[in-house]
Amino acid sequence: MNKSLATGIMGAALMLGSTALAQETFISIGTGGVTGVYYPAGGAICRLVNRDRAEHGIRCGVESTGGSVFNVNAIRSGELEFGVAQSDIQYHSFNGSQQFEETGAFEGLRAVFSLHPEPFTVVARADAGITSFEDLRGKRVNIGNPGSGQRATMDVVLEAMGWTVDDFSQVSELPPAEQALALCDNNIDAMVYTVGHPSGAIQEATTACDSVLVNVDNDAIRQLVEDRPYYRMATIPGGMYRGTSEDVTTFGVGATFVSSDSVSEEIVYQVTKAIFESLDQFRALHPALGNLNAEEMVNDGNSAPLHPGAERYFREAGLME
Ligand code: GLU
Repeated sequence: MNKSLATGIMGAALMLGSTALAQETFISIGTGGVTGVYYPAGGAICRLVNRDRAEHGIRCGVESTGGSVFNVNAIRSGELEFGVAQSDIQYHSFNGSQQFEETGAFEGLRAVFSLHPEPFTVVARADAGITSFEDLRGKRVNIGNPGSGQRATMDVVLEAMGWTVDDFSQVSELPPAEQALALCDNNIDAMVYTVGHPSGAIQEATTACDSVLVNVDNDAIRQLVEDRPYYRMATIPGGMYRGTSEDVTTFGVGATFVSSDSVSEEIVYQVTKAIFESLDQFRALHPALGNLNAEEMVNDGNSAPLHPGAERYFREAGLME
């Protein structure tokens, strides 16, 4: 290449770089613990958004957080622009129900799209004699950190079963990334995690020591699923994790990607577009995202209104009438 042409191209690239920088907008996505699926899913979203940064000027970053409840609260206070949240948490935040009764409805919450299914997953030490949720009575159980989705779901399950935390011999509130170690050190008998599969956290808990996945399937759970629109029965396939060769029956929610009405239409449009235009690549970035399907991502799991930026993209792409 002739030298002046090369300098010219570099000069243009530099100019482009500085123009883009001058207009750069930062967005942060609230996720969960680093061994969950939210964190790598958020990373995958940012990777696709940042790839087109020169065109739209958006710089996307991921934060590891306490989980769903933390994320919607941080979006409400304007600390975060986006977050991943369980479909039940999206519902309760928007409606001001359950643990959001005191703070009231977050009417500005907006759905962007939904992600992977998240079964309510209970893992117990193989030597603890636990094969179903009912066997947790009298055991040492990690009920999840406040701010996490699993903690919120656990509270609902306890209420549905007519139990309280006093039905356990000991209760801890460790965050997901610390659960596997506590289980394998024999500090707890069981842990709960509402999470996509396969996930690093469950892999760790089932390979670092002998442990099993537990069925969460009884009349109280079936009633719960019947009564609440955001719950459904779920199966964790046998053979996915060491020590559990049979299918496990439980119930679950869906992970959803949310934002607020104070985030601009243009930003949400660009983020949505970046994901849907490269859905194959997005699916390949984490095995728990492998079965995502565009139609379900648009139509399932959302109870808050769709953000206008997402709606604009979905109409343009023919995913919505
Ligand atoms: N469902 C969990 C929560 O809402 C997070 C799961 C994950 O990090 O993948 O806190």
